[in-house]
Amino acid sequence: MEQVRPRVLIIGAGFGGMAAARALRRTRVDVTVIDRNNYHTFQPLLYQVATAGLEPGDIAYAVRGVFRKQKNISFRLGEVSEVALEDRFLWMADGTRLHYDFLVVASGAETNDFGVEGVSQYAFGLKSMDDAVRIRNHILLQFELCNSRPELVKEGALTFVIVGGGPTGVEVAGALMELFNHVLRKDFRGFTGDPARIVLVEQGPRLLPSFHQRQGNFARKKLERWGVEIELGVRLVRVESDGCVREPGGRIDTKTVIWAAGVRGTSPRGFGAVPVLSGGRFEVSGNLSLTSHNEVFVIGDLAGARIGDSLLPQVAQPAMQEGRHVGNEIRAAVRKKESRPFKYRDLGQMATIGRHAAVVELPIGLALRGYPAWIAWLFLHLIKLIGFRNRASVLVNWVWNYFTYDRTARLIFGSPRPGEPSAK
Ligand SMILES: Cc1cc2nc3c(=O)[nH]c(=O)nc-3n(C[C@H](O)[C@H](O)[C@H](O)COP(=O)(O)OP(=O)(O)OC[C@H]3O[C@@H](n4cnc5c(N)ncnc54)[C@H](O)[C@@H]3O)c2cc1C
Repeated sequence: MEQVRPRVLIIGAGFGGMAAARALRRTRVDVTVIDRNNYHTFQPLLYQVATAGLEPGDIAYAVRGVFRKQKNISFRLGEVSEVALEDRFLWMADGTRLHYDFLVVASGAETNDFGVEGVSQYAFGLKSMDDAVRIRNHILLQFELCNSRPELVKEGALTFVIVGGGPTGVEVAGALMELFNHVLRKDFRGFTGDPARIVLVEQGPRLLPSFHQRQGNFARKKLERWGVEIELGVRLVRVESDGCVREPGGRIDTKTVIWAAGVRGTSPRGFGAVPVLSGGRFEVSGNLSLTSHNEVFVIGDLAGARIGDSLLPQVAQPAMQEGRHVGNEIRAAVRKKESRPFKYRDLGQMATIGRHAAVVELPIGLALRGYPAWIAWLFLHLIKLIGFRNRASVLVNWVWNYFTYDRTARLIFGSPRPGEPSAK
């Protein structure tokens, strides 16, 4: 008689969940990957969808397609609402109950508003494909509205405030400036001068705080040369429907605040007893399991894994390496082999600022800036995308954008028409 195979449930088809599932493809377990979306999102390029550089389909890939040939892996679309740790099952939002022998929680992170009033109501987060498309629609719509009613420019309709001087804020600011200067300025010939403003607000003393000071200075000089107004040492304290308030500096009239100031781990209910560390991360043991439940593993943005005394950053490399490790841990447990502690391999960090400008830092102490760093950034992001079609499509778009400065993705979908209230 065939033995019943252990059942592994993975919550989340992000970088961590996908890596864990892949690592289990040759293990005698039945794996179900669960996600509220039927696709994996390549979040590092979300900002290009938000700024009309790429289409959503270029940076998303159907999860069923990824695992088509892996017989022990299935996918389930839906929201996990609660986990019952003691009884080893989880509840889906539709009321279904799923049992597990091993659980991998890779549900990622959500926008952290740090308690600032009005952020959840009026600011745009950039954590999902829906967020990116919403931002794109809204930005393009502001230009259309101002084209019909130029007086709206004075009310801040073409003032775009980006909060957070980390890699996401810098990338959004650079890409928006390129969209305005090279595309929308030509599309909307009726505007006089430079009506669009981009204000990048960072509460710390410099941009790109996780990078070396010289890299942050480089990013600042580049963005300022392109026309971005950078406000360092400035905190946003309130977001309203038609403006935001910063300290120091007072109010700016704007219809667009893009919140790139940070994230915090997110999970279904049921983990109330698990200690939570900074960034909303769950405390995990050395092999990434919960100390109270060694059959439950937490990875990615939700995991409080450490390198020495510091928590690992909430970026893709830790998530992928943790996913692989947890896959190996489950295989070891099934084969009654010894558990091993997770060891992180630092591969460095990179961020792009815009055309011909990026920063790269490698753990061997090598730091690159400008054109070589930009080429390295382009190459790495291209090869990390899932699927040949996506890589080919992104490459074609990038080459097209590079030579023509065109943005074919500047389309408004599912938004109000000009004259009607904005989507946000
Ligand atoms: C705009 C942006 C730019 C970034 N740029 C970079 C970069 O340049 N380099 C870098 O290394 N990192 C970057 N990151 C960070 C990186 O994308 C994350 O660290 C990484 O995605 C974390 O992987 P994860 O598996 O923990 O979570 P995610 O990739 O976020 O995946 C979580 C998945 O879980 C699903 N999910 C969550 N809750 C539930 C639930 N209750 N039920 C069902 N499904 C659920 C979500 O739909 C999602 O698919 C960026 C992130 C953002 C948002």
